[in-house]
Amino acid sequence: VEDNRLNLIQSRIRDFPDFPQKGIIFRDICPILKDPAALSAVTSLFEEHVRAQFQQVDLVVGLDARGFLFGPLLAQRLGVGFVLVRKKGKLPGATVSVAYNLEYGKAEAEIQEDAVAPGQKVILIDDLLATGGTLYAACSLMNQQRAEVLGCLVVVELKELNGADKIKPHPVYSLLKY
Ligand code: AMP
Repeated sequence: VEDNRLNLIQSRIRDFPDFPQKGIIFRDICPILKDPAALSAVTSLFEEHVRAQFQQVDLVVGLDARGFLFGPLLAQRLGVGFVLVRKKGKLPGATVSVAYNLEYGKAEAEIQEDAVAPGQKVILIDDLLATGGTLYAACSLMNQQRAEVLGCLVVVELKELNGADKIKPHPVYSLLKY
């Protein structure tokens, strides 16, 4: 069954060829945020998926930076807390970090040491899955802290980069596949 919400969301994603470097088509999700109906559609589709798939969720974990835009909205719908996986050097206090490769460049992901407790069931969220390097790093942080990754949510999945394979066995749910 076609979901009109997906058409709406798709219409609110802009393509920018050769940004931030040649050969990359940047999928800009800013128009989703500018349209309350589209943003609500994203949140509802994520919420429905999570409620259908998982009996218990303890936390939503958002990835720097655009995971921070969608994550808290979903967390509020689910009635759970939200925590941040940030680029290194942004978080105060005791932290744990992991290095990883991006579709373009390199980075290090970091969480506060007490952000998640052992055994907590978490959902990871970001705007887009490319190579999977970023979500893989976040999953590693969760595993290090002995949290249980139930799954990962993204608005857009770039299929040809096989990012979903990289983060196996954790399942990925994407609203749109390119
Ligand atoms: P990756 O680690 O390769 O899966 O890259 C995912 C991260 O980089 C996400 O946080 C995205 O926001 C960003 N990203 C990578 N490729 C693109 C793209 N083509 N368009 C927009 N964002 C991208």
